[in-house]
Amino acid sequence: MRLHALGCYGGEAPGCHQTSHLVDGRLLLDAGSVTAALPLDSQAGIDQVLVTHSHLDHVAALAFLADNLSTVRTKPIEVWSIPPVIRHLKKHVFNGIIWPDFTTIPSPQNPILSFHEIREGRPQRIGGYEVMAVRVDHTVEATGYLVSDGEASILFQGDSGPTTELWKVANAASRLQAIIVETSYPNLLQDLADASGHLTPQTLRTELTKLTVRRPIYAQHIKPQFIADIVRELAELSDPPVAILEQGKEYSFLAT
Ligand SMILES: [Zn+2]
Ligand SMILES: [Zn+2]
Repeated sequence: MRLHALGCYGGEAPGCHQTSHLVDGRLLLDAGSVTAALPLDSQAGIDQVLVTHSHLDHVAALAFLADNLSTVRTKPIEVWSIPPVIRHLKKHVFNGIIWPDFTTIPSPQNPILSFHEIREGRPQRIGGYEVMAVRVDHTVEATGYLVSDGEASILFQGDSGPTTELWKVANAASRLQAIIVETSYPNLLQDLADASGHLTPQTLRTELTKLTVRRPIYAQHIKPQFIADIVRELAELSDPPVAILEQGKEYSFLAT
């Protein structure tokens, strides 16, 4: 399984794209920045999008992706999430006011977007992958995803404060090659992190005590204004170590 880290930040600034990662060129994890980060011909190869939650830094480029590809693709891009997130996207984004309803464009019979619900805790076949939505804890309904191609699995947290189910899934998952967590704020802003359903390096450290298996851990969704502090504080987490997920890098997660 290959993962192209298109956007690794929890905000937008020059050089910082918002959360979006592409698996094997066709399965997108969140759509915060895909259109700014990926050439048009590669955008056309995206068949499915797994959305963690409705916040703009995770869905904004879904609007622009639909617009870019509405006359290019012959099949809809399938947008998957838990039922409340699908409801929010239909009602608050693709509502004909904020943005057109791309489930009827270019035609209702052959639209560029189709929405699909996934239930938490139940493996679901999506494209060539087995996907399980995993409950996390954010300020709006949100989910993480365990994605497996049959040989390797990755666990993507999305946005979340301290949580439990995610770590149970991590402990039980077979062939888990990467856990991609969020770290949005530095330790100094712990109160803000708690109030907004996010982690700091120190709460991530506590979260990682729930992990009973040793797996590579990558942090992303860093707020651009706090990069230096967060990177320094993450570097102090040595057991287990936490790597920064590097924007623009292509990772190969192979079964061992
Ligand atoms: Zn976010
Ligand atoms: Zn969020």
